[in-house]
Order: sequence, then structure tokens, then C-alpha cells
Amino acid sequence: MKQILWFRRDLRVRDNKILEKASNEVMPIFIFDKNILEKLDRDDKRVTFIYDAVLALKKSLETLGLDLYIFYDTPKNVFMNLKKDGFDEVLCSGDFDSYSQKRDKEINEILPLKRYLDSFLINPKRNLKKDETPYKVFTPFYKSLSWLSSSDKIGESNVNPDLKLYKYKSKNPTLEEIGFKRVELPGFLNQTPQNRLDNFKEKVEEYEKNRDIFYKDGTSNLGIDLRFGTISPRMIFNEIKKLDGKNSEVFIRQLFWREFYNYILFHFPKSESENWNGIEITWRENEEDFQKWCEGKTGVPIIDAAMRHFNKTGMMHNRLRMIVSSFLCKNLLIHWKKGEQYFAKKLLDYDACSNIGSWQWAASTGADSVPYFRIFNPYLQSGKFDKEAIFIKSIIPELKEVDSKLIHIEGALKDKYISPIVDIKYSREKAIRAFKEAKNAKV
Ligand SMILES: Cc1cc2nc3c(=O)[nH]c(=O)nc-3n(C[C@H](O)[C@H](O)[C@H](O)COP(=O)(O)OP(=O)(O)OC[C@H]3O[C@@H](n4cnc5c(N)ncnc54)[C@H](O)[C@@H]3O)c2cc1C
Repeated sequence: MKQILWFRRDLRVRDNKILEKASNEVMPIFIFDKNILEKLDRDDKRVTFIYDAVLALKKSLETLGLDLYIFYDTPKNVFMNLKKDGFDEVLCSGDFDSYSQKRDKEINEILPLKRYLDSFLINPKRNLKKDETPYKVFTPFYKSLSWLSSSDKIGESNVNPDLKLYKYKSKNPTLEEIGFKRVELPGFLNQTPQNRLDNFKEKVEEYEKNRDIFYKDGTSNLGIDLRFGTISPRMIFNEIKKLDGKNSEVFIRQLFWREFYNYILFHFPKSESENWNGIEITWRENEEDFQKWCEGKTGVPIIDAAMRHFNKTGMMHNRLRMIVSSFLCKNLLIHWKKGEQYFAKKLLDYDACSNIGSWQWAASTGADSVPYFRIFNPYLQSGKFDKEAIFIKSIIPELKEVDSKLIHIEGALKDKYISPIVDIKYSREKAIRAFKEAKNAKV
């Protein structure tokens, strides 16, 4: 048996199914996929992250007597060429978004592709309701998985010790050769994935208390590791459960939101581009307001600080994601798809299922989404979660000397800051009317 082990979003050795399922002679590979890369900016932060993660994986595989051969091409070309070397099959982990499904179908016609579920805790095909239809609401979905969420440990995969490397002549492309610039990443990404997990283990007991306070480092920062599989969700689950802490349940529940959104996208693939609940909103097409939102120039301090920080770092705290998405889809009444695409372009931990699910949640068009009349008031949100304006002032220098209280009052900044592009009360009422009409039209 001669197999290709195709690493994709499972860039790790520990708990990797393809290293367990492989037998005999193997050729581990990673492809910098031209189809994906050509759409990205040349200074995309994620490419620097992946590039380093791929080299780290290569080193780990070398310690096992294996290697990682790195290609820069389309998957189709790579497999057409490798087919000539007489491989029997390709082993890889499964992915569920539309591009991945299409790509895998194409490769399967060149060489048989065996896909293993390795990026998520559950197989979205399973776990249906009694009537054989998928869950649409998070809480019953989560409850139905209590056998899993309440367990102490989920079995991890072990590397098959009998693997033999199929030697191949190749040269690793440099980051420049694949057309990208090395860029500075946020400091926490200079640690190893295991260090990030270990750091979070010390904070997990405070997670519930701190998780919404965006000027504190109260969350795990493991989103990017989950996205690219530098840590498996089972490893995170097991290591947190091992601590036997009282407060880890809240964190474990969040991991299942990721499962939920993957499950929803799998069962409702059209939600990638259409309103999941089928309502038709008359969105505003206002490119100028959209640009101001993107650039952090709306005149609403919390929105501007969140977006400017995002543009610089590729990071945004969950509470801020909720506030800026609500502002775009409700106060500005701009299509969630525009915001979703902007996040997709820049978010370090961008994951199609969670991003689409969360944007549709914010827009009240998705599965188990926020009721359309519950619209965040950005001023009340910043007053509640950043009372002293610590985060806002750290990003917007012109507000440094301003009394923090004024920052949380609409209209109080006058000539101290740019004028807001919307009136919160008026735009809220307008959005509620638009959503009410759309709902009534559907009935
Ligand atoms: C508009 C919007 C867009 C989003 N886009 C993405 C995205 O592209 N990729 C992404 O991974 N998450 C997304 N989220 C969810 C959430 O904001 C991030 O998962 C979280 O901020 C990542 O930081 P963390 O790892 O420190 O999270 P923690 O709070 O430490 O949570 C641990 C892990 O649980 C999962 N998780 C936590 N909250 C959620 C949630 N609400 N939905 C789904 N999974 C969750 C993530 O995998 C996260 O890494 C989005 C949320 C909103 C409101």
C-alpha cells in the first residue's frame, strides 16, 4: 500500500487521524493551493501563520522519521503528477465548505480520497432529531450531545509507528516564491500552539467572568489553532476537562457553538449565500457607509476602535464582533454578506461555518439567531464592557484625553470626534420596521 497523506487544516502530529489510519509507505504533503492564494492580499497575515505552521509540522514529522513535501500549485496538478508514481490512495481530513467539497470531488476522480473527520468533534451527518431532520436551535442540539460534552475524555489518535517514508525529490518554496510577504503577527502567535493552550488553562476558571471584557485577555485565543488544526478540538476538550475545574463548562459549551455552525452549514449549504430563514430584507446599498464601517470612521467610538484594531491585527474579540455586526446589519441596514466577506478577507481565525453562522445570527436571518428587535446599542455596550474606555482610548488617540463617560453617550463628543453617520434610535426603529415587513411578507 502506498499512500499520500494530504495535510490541510490538520497541521499537527498529535491526535491526527491520517497518521493513525496510514499504513506502510507514505508521502506526507502540503499544498499551497494557487486557487485559494491568488484571491488573497500579498500581505495576508494568515499565510505567514500557515507557512510557519507547515514548517513546524515538517520538523515534527522529521522526528518521526517522516517528512513533509511542500507544493505550490493547484491540487489538481499536484495529484495528476503524483498519480504517475503509483500511489493507491490519498488520506486527508474532511472539510465542509463548498470550495472544499468541490475540490475533493475533483481529486477523488484522480486518486481515491479517504476523508476522516478530524477538525470537529462530531460528524454533522449524524446527530439528527428523532424525526430524522437536523436540529435548528443550539440548546436542544447541545443537550442531545450531553453524552459527549459531559464525558471526561474523547479518544485521540495515535501515530502508526510502522510508517515508512516514500522519498521524493522536491524543494520547499519560500514565502516569497509563493508570492507573499512575511508580516508581523500578534504577539501571542509567536508562542507554540501548546503554549497558548497551557496559558489558557491557567485562565479557564476566570473565563465566565472575563470572556466579555474585551480589554482583558480573558479568552483562549485558540480560534486560529482550531481553524488550521495546529491543535485538535479533542486535545482542547481533553486538556480542559483534565483540570477538573468548576467553571470549564461555559468554555466547553462555546466549543459546541463551533460544532453547531459547522452542522448548520453542512445541512443547509445554501446559507453560505442566502438568508437561512428565507426572509427577504430590503437592504440599503450604501457603499460610502460601508467603507466608513470598514475603515473605522463611523463616528461611533466602539465601532471605530474595534474595526481599526481589526484592520491592524486581524483580531477581534467576540463581544466586539457582535457589536460591529449588529451595527452594520441593523443600524446601517447593510447586507450581512458584505460584513461576512470583509471578515473573511482579514480575520485570522476566519472559518466559513462560524463566520457565516455568526453573521446570519447578527442579522437575524440565521439558525437560532438574535431576535430582529434585539439590537445592540453600541454606546450602552461600550459603557457596560469598557467603562473606563481602556480599549477605545488605546486605539483612538484623539479620544485619550476625553472624559470616558462622554464616550458612551451618543452625541456627547461634539467637536472632539468625527460626527456619527447614524442616529442610533432612529436607525434602530427603521431596521425593526424593515425586518417586521420582511417577516410579514414571508408569512
Ligand atoms: C460576526 C461574527 C463573526 C465570527 N466569525 C468567526 C470566524 O470566522 N471563525 C471563528 O472561529 N469564530 C468566529 N466567530 C465566533 C467567535 O467570535 C470566535 O470564535 C472567538 O472570538 C475566537 O476567540 P477565542 O478563540 O479567544 O474564543 P474563546 O472564547 O476562547 O472560545 C474558544 C473557541 O470556541 C469557539 N467559539 C467561541 N464562541 C463561538 C461562537 N460564538 N461561534 C462559533 N464558535 C465559537 C471558537 O472555536 C473559539 O476559538 C464570529 C463571531 C461573530 C459575532
